[in-house]
Amino acid sequence: MQQQNHQPTDPIEPTSDSVCALTSTRFVLVEPSHPGNVGAAARALKTMGLRRLILVKPQHPNVLTHPDALALASGAQDVLAAAQITDSLETALSGVQWSVALSARPRGYSPPILTPRSAAQQARLVAAQGEVAYIFGNERAGLSNADVERCNALVHIPANPVYSSLNLAQAVQVLAYELRMTLLNEGDGPPHTPTLAHGLSVSALATSDEVERMFAHLQSAFIALDFLHPAQPKKLMSRLRRLFARTALEREEVNIMRGIAKRIIWQAKSRDLE
Ligand code: SAH
Repeated sequence: MQQQNHQPTDPIEPTSDSVCALTSTRFVLVEPSHPGNVGAAARALKTMGLRRLILVKPQHPNVLTHPDALALASGAQDVLAAAQITDSLETALSGVQWSVALSARPRGYSPPILTPRSAAQQARLVAAQGEVAYIFGNERAGLSNADVERCNALVHIPANPVYSSLNLAQAVQVLAYELRMTLLNEGDGPPHTPTLAHGLSVSALATSDEVERMFAHLQSAFIALDFLHPAQPKKLMSRLRRLFARTALEREEVNIMRGIAKRIIWQAKSRDLE
């Protein structure tokens, strides 16, 4: 007789696409100072089905084995043990096509501002085919402006305006929860296609590394043109970063911008030789 499987299907079990999106999304903590917060962040991720934790220059050398980290990770010690440690945000974001900076306070120059929920919706689209990262700052200082400006979006958790600074691991929990809810409810939303606004294809998006090389190339071209003076750079590059952050740059477009920069540098050199 055939064995009947009466096991009910778990109503909150994500589909395999969602599981992939959840497990590939990077949660990056920049210079975390308290090992306990790192452990608690690992727990926050695991409870929401996430597991990719990256630490950029953690202040404690043995943070992954620190007793406070182990205690607060509780049943998520596997996520803690698997955390990657890098020495720069650039390395942590290698290959990422859509990155979100988390900030407790507004910034003068920032990429477009999203709520945790709208960020999760955007992350869902990109994560179907590409790489997504959420980036959190240090407990005391938060993220630097330079770190914020290299991301595609800024998320502020709309907390109490008179005291909106959450504990680091609690901020991780809020974003991880929103991501899980969005991915679990994907059947309720529009059909899940890996196509972004304006018909852009995720696979054509430039990665964070490619975009950073474009900015470095443009900056050299502006210097060669005497349009940017290294001693007095003003806010030119920050403003341009904000301008480009409002678009979703494709690899092809990054190559065009680099082609223009290359040509400018070449022309400026031949002018100098005349
Ligand atoms: N004193 C710091 C706050 C650090 S809290 C500052 O003023 O920036 C540590 C990190 O948790 C922050 O860098 C941010 O990534 C996250 N965080 C805390 N509260 C947040 C909020 N309301 N919205 C978004 N991120 C928040």
